[in-house]
Amino acid sequence: MTFESLGLAPALLRALSEQNYATPTPIQAEAIPLAMAGHDLLGGAQTGTGKTAAFGLPLLHRLATAAPQGGPRKPRALILAPTRELALQVSDSLRGYAKYLRLNVHAIYGGAGMGPQLDALRRGVDVLVATPGRLIDHLERGSAKLDAVELLVMDEADRMLDMGFLPAIKRILGRLPASRQTLLFSATFEAQIKQLALEFMRAPQQVQI
Ligand code: AMP
Repeated sequence: MTFESLGLAPALLRALSEQNYATPTPIQAEAIPLAMAGHDLLGGAQTGTGKTAAFGLPLLHRLATAAPQGGPRKPRALILAPTRELALQVSDSLRGYAKYLRLNVHAIYGGAGMGPQLDALRRGVDVLVATPGRLIDHLERGSAKLDAVELLVMDEADRMLDMGFLPAIKRILGRLPASRQTLLFSATFEAQIKQLALEFMRAPQQVQI
């Protein structure tokens, strides 16, 4: 299988070939077609399997090929991650894949000043990567708007729950349009994750490697 055969936007294929991504990893080969078809996904994958591109490529493809709603520029995709390190890693990877797209990818996380994050949100962010606690701060201030989110990713969902983010995640999910697509990645699927999926996802397809 090749990335070309998955039908990804040419601008994404160009960035991938520059980064020497020749063949999709198993999780990418399984998840990308399902996500591009609009399904909700429960992905079982550890770090190092290529899970970032497994959700990042269909996400960027959707944003690149479907027109925004118009009006002020608000995030069309939200990625929740447990830690600042993962949020930065994910935003760096996505920025690389989006090199030839006109999309702003930005990470907001705790333990850093609000000023630069407020400036970035004011300028306009298309793909927002966030740790749950800091995103709640921005929602309370009104600096982050989630009503235009078409696609939500929960990355390392089990770690987010271990860190006590369930209440924050539920509050965030309550602010998202019901019509969105949801992708959840986790190394493990304990009862709490299954409950989250039942409550907040629509007929999710499972991919596991
Ligand atoms: P991840 O599991 O998303 O953290 O990715 C692990 C590493 O594999 C990262 O350095 C990615 O850049 C790299 N990677 C992901 N997918 C591919 C691919 N299809 N071909 C080559 N490298 C990849």
